[in-house]
Amino acid sequence: MAENICDSLRRHAGDWALYEQAKDCALDYMRTVQDRPVFPAPAAIAALAAFREPLPDAPADPRDLLATLHRLGSPATVAQTGGRYFGFVNGGIIPAALAAKWLGDAWDQNAGLYVISPVASVLEEVCENWLVDLLGLPAGTAAGFVSGTSNASLCGLAAGRDFLLNRKGWDVGSRGLFGAPELRVVLGAGAHSTVYKALSILGLGKDRLIKVPVDNQGRMLADKLPPLDDNTLLILQAGNVSTGSFDPFAAILPRARAAGAWVHVDGAFGLWAAASPALRPLTAGLELADSWSVDAHKTLNAPYDNGIVLCRHRDALVRAMSMTGAYIVYSENRDGMNFTADMSRRARAVELWASLKALGRSGAAGLVEDLCRKARLFAAALQNADFRILNDVCFNQVLVACRDEALTKKTLENLQQSGECWCGPTQWQGETVIRISVCSYRTTDEDIERSVRAFVKARDDSAHA
Ligand SMILES: *Cc1c(COP(=O)(O)O)cnc(C)c1O
Repeated sequence: MAENICDSLRRHAGDWALYEQAKDCALDYMRTVQDRPVFPAPAAIAALAAFREPLPDAPADPRDLLATLHRLGSPATVAQTGGRYFGFVNGGIIPAALAAKWLGDAWDQNAGLYVISPVASVLEEVCENWLVDLLGLPAGTAAGFVSGTSNASLCGLAAGRDFLLNRKGWDVGSRGLFGAPELRVVLGAGAHSTVYKALSILGLGKDRLIKVPVDNQGRMLADKLPPLDDNTLLILQAGNVSTGSFDPFAAILPRARAAGAWVHVDGAFGLWAAASPALRPLTAGLELADSWSVDAHKTLNAPYDNGIVLCRHRDALVRAMSMTGAYIVYSENRDGMNFTADMSRRARAVELWASLKALGRSGAAGLVEDLCRKARLFAAALQNADFRILNDVCFNQVLVACRDEALTKKTLENLQQSGECWCGPTQWQGETVIRISVCSYRTTDEDIERSVRAFVKARDDSAHA
């Protein structure tokens, strides 16, 4: 007779060789990642078809399925931890954070409540304090630990919406938005698409926003701001996803505060500039905002998924996110679910704590500064090779184009197929261009030289095609 499933799972739980096998696969991957094609080869992608089977009837042997995952899955990954991945704004993984994540995975803690996981609660509290200190935010600022900036912006904007309406005597939590006083939502024309998504989920509408014109780097023009008032939700940006530029916080925030507006800053990757004394001028004035969103899985190089919502008004965030239930036991300690939309949640503060501890204050500054130095190096080398650089490289993003758009597109296609490095396209001022994000500590100066050679070859091959 077949073994009872729970009996067999209990047997596997003590199968130490299974976990050793996982460790061996992971180490094999990590040892070879720098030699893998940066984007998987067509054959590796085609082999993924083997995953597409009907749901099996019978349980699979865990060692077999792990072997399958490594055999089919590893070659079809994007080698973004290897040093020559410059797509989107994807960070590398700090070694200590990866190792801590493995231990945290074995713990499998639920970070919802102190009573479910004291260690998760304490690590969240420590990370909250460290982030406020590192980023120069107001004392008492609250942090919620979420999957990424999309989610963090949703939480920060929900807190702002509820705060503004509460001040007008309107409790959104109980009455919803039906018949509520109108809010004005003001944002820059260069705002990230996830901000629009958050606004639409929150019932604030994507099509009734007031868009402020921006300059040629995507920075909001402070003198084009409409009048602000205490019905205004204003969204600013630290780090434009194309150019890396920062809105002029010092010119805007004092006005916004005086008017009683709520200001949210999308700082997905750029907020980390505040961790560096050299780069902090880019974020000057940012501490006057009401809420901020930031990703640890970008510039800080924590593993996915790791985003943080920060809110000056602890009560407003908790009011927007809290819930009650007969079995919920709030404590005197930090209960993580009060600061996020989730109830059950993995303890991602484990990796965040490990990242911050592994870097320290000086390491965080050094990491961000080195990413920016490498972005400038990349831009200079490409310019020397007759590529056009379209942005002021003030942070870690570089916009690149060839002589004409057709050549740019063909060059990018060749580059992506080369396996040498990977960059994505973006639309910049009506033109399709190549976007580089230097976001991993793993990238060396040699990686940049090798990538520049790949750019040149990709362009030569296009021109001769
Ligand atoms: C990446 C990014 C986001 C979205 O963050 P996720 O972590 O992918 O949810 C939002 N805004 C900016 C500026 C970004 O760079």
